[in-house]
Amino acid sequence: MKVVVADRAGVCYGVRRALEIVESELRKGRKLATLGPLIHNPQAVKRLEERGVKVVQDIAELDDGAIVMPSHGVPKAIREAAERAGLQVVDATCPFVAKVHRVVRRLAEHGYEVVVIGDPGHSEVKGILSAAGENAVVVSSVQDVEGLDWTAKKVGIVCQTTQTPEHFGEIVGRIAARAAEVVAHNTICYATHDRQSAARSIAPKVDAMFVVGGRNSANTNRLAEICRECGVRTYHIETADEIDPEALRGCTVVGLTAGASTPDWVIEEVKSRLEAL
Ligand code: SF4
Repeated sequence: MKVVVADRAGVCYGVRRALEIVESELRKGRKLATLGPLIHNPQAVKRLEERGVKVVQDIAELDDGAIVMPSHGVPKAIREAAERAGLQVVDATCPFVAKVHRVVRRLAEHGYEVVVIGDPGHSEVKGILSAAGENAVVVSSVQDVEGLDWTAKKVGIVCQTTQTPEHFGEIVGRIAARAAEVVAHNTICYATHDRQSAARSIAPKVDAMFVVGGRNSANTNRLAEICRECGVRTYHIETADEIDPEALRGCTVVGLTAGASTPDWVIEEVKSRLEAL
């Protein structure tokens, strides 16, 4: 049985970088904690916990040591609170997210009212918003846009890195139709999009697809959904142990893909198990 791995699968640049930063801090013997799970992958988080990396939900849970800020960034107030508490701040914010912070800061300085297209409850959006000044707003739908007054306004637009180009274009168009001036920065990161296209291109050619990644990972769930939409039998698994040998009966070729927060070693274990079976 042949195992075809999607040519874009597994951790994205920002998550890989965050994992490398934590590795390098551990090598220095630092006492480390992460604010929330470092990545949406229970196996990777467990491995880090076994090496002493604590997961905290609040800065107040820590008395000393270093705190790692996650790849999707945090609001300015959280970083400041960590510094005030005397913690060392290790910044693992993805450079693509950090760039969005710089863009909104510049827009606000030049008098634009900043609009962030995205999910208001997501911490990446909260981080961007905190860099954008008091007048910034979040919109997540066309209804949100219609409910605001854009007349005679100078608007600077960015988006959460995981938005789709179609949604971004539609919202920008709606605002541009009414505001006096619009500057739009496409701040989409194509990591998720590329993984989806790669999965779409192999799914119709295989007997079954295995999608590896945390059940708490939105982008992994979406990958599994896309494979199912292609009409192929799809299994969303977190580890190699979850492979049911019965699922492979009669298969001559299976596909393998993984979400943007699935580390290489988890993918390797699944691939080896599939080949062994
Ligand atoms: S998805 Fe993109 S923006 Fe988000 S962490 Fe990965 S590389 Fe960075």
